[in-house]
Amino acid sequence: MTDDQPQPPPLPTPPPLPQPARLPDPGALRDPAQIQRSEQTRTYPCPQCGANLFYDPGHQRLACRACGHTEPLTAPQGTVTKRDLGTAMHDLAQRIAAGEHGRPRSLTREVVCQNCGGRTSFEGTLTATKCPYCATPIQRNDLQQAPERLPIDGVLPFQVDESAAHRAVNEWINSRWFAPREFKTYREVGSFTSIYLSYFTYDAQTVTDYTGQRGEHYTVVVGEGENRHTETRTNWWPVSGRVANDFRDVLEPANTGLDHKKVVALEPWPIPSAQPYSPQYIAGHLSRTYDEDAQQRFEDGARGQMDDEIRSTIRQDIGGDEQRVGQVSTSFRTLTFAQLLLPVWLLTVTFEGRPFQVFINGVTGEVQGRRPWSKVKIACAVLLAIIVVVIVVLVVKMTKGG
Ligand SMILES: [Zn+2]
Ligand SMILES: [Zn+2]
Repeated sequence: MTDDQPQPPPLPTPPPLPQPARLPDPGALRDPAQIQRSEQTRTYPCPQCGANLFYDPGHQRLACRACGHTEPLTAPQGTVTKRDLGTAMHDLAQRIAAGEHGRPRSLTREVVCQNCGGRTSFEGTLTATKCPYCATPIQRNDLQQAPERLPIDGVLPFQVDESAAHRAVNEWINSRWFAPREFKTYREVGSFTSIYLSYFTYDAQTVTDYTGQRGEHYTVVVGEGENRHTETRTNWWPVSGRVANDFRDVLEPANTGLDHKKVVALEPWPIPSAQPYSPQYIAGHLSRTYDEDAQQRFEDGARGQMDDEIRSTIRQDIGGDEQRVGQVSTSFRTLTFAQLLLPVWLLTVTFEGRPFQVFINGVTGEVQGRRPWSKVKIACAVLLAIIVVVIVVLVVKMTKGG
């Protein structure tokens, strides 16, 4: 059978544009939140007394400090799904270009507190704050669904409550030598807040081709007579090969303006127990969204963490006694990410005009921070040390003389 008029090949159906995972608004699940449509904000008024509910880490419920009323969470439970980084960033760029201004809009926004009428502004990447006049916790409701922002995918809810956080920070401060007394009485001069910080976590499967050299040790006997001894030397053999790596939850902080080293030192976090994002976990706490997006944090942070790990896999693969790594070429079979909110208690103490930050991991209680040094205490200690040395010298001289 001949086919004189070959049929044109069917047009490939374009793959459906992957949509970023949007969680159903938990409002549909009998969320006790009150949404202020004009202000695009969200509060959690107590149904019994009208004060505010907060997410209570101790009981993992919504609770009212004023009347003691509590409610169970209605946030969906489950696991956090990750999205392909390339697709998500491509879609984000398209949504930004199609947006009103063709560029990301400013995050800063002023809202009117629906409790007292006072104006408060959300600066930078802050998405949940407290009204400065009446302390009502207010969440922005317009960012999670904003087309020109990556959505929050998951959250590790606070487990360390305020009194436990105070105990942890007291212990840390009291164990610091030479801290000024004023710093130790931080309760009067510092601010202590619970805040969710933004992170990106990455999964990846990589394949890496490499060249290098394997060094093998051998010993030779050198020298004559009394100088005769053995020396270790290395033979180098050229090698090449391929290694595969499987990365799970490579974590990168996404907020700027914080002490990066100390924030990183709060690790490890129990990332596998993160829950799908719900604003209920944020009730009564502060929260931020990312300052640097998932692509930036990958290029400036996660990629380096992965490269270090890949090099160590290459060294194992080369084997021998020593290794030299030459050319390395890595391709990513998969690269996915999720935006997570992680809980931190943050103590800020301004001492002699300088701010000092102390961070407490809101899940594990790990404390990391910087503190001032007391010049007076250090001077006293140095003086004391000198006196001790002088006495010891005198005693030694006297016993020798006697
Ligand atoms: Zn109440
Ligand atoms: Zn207010």
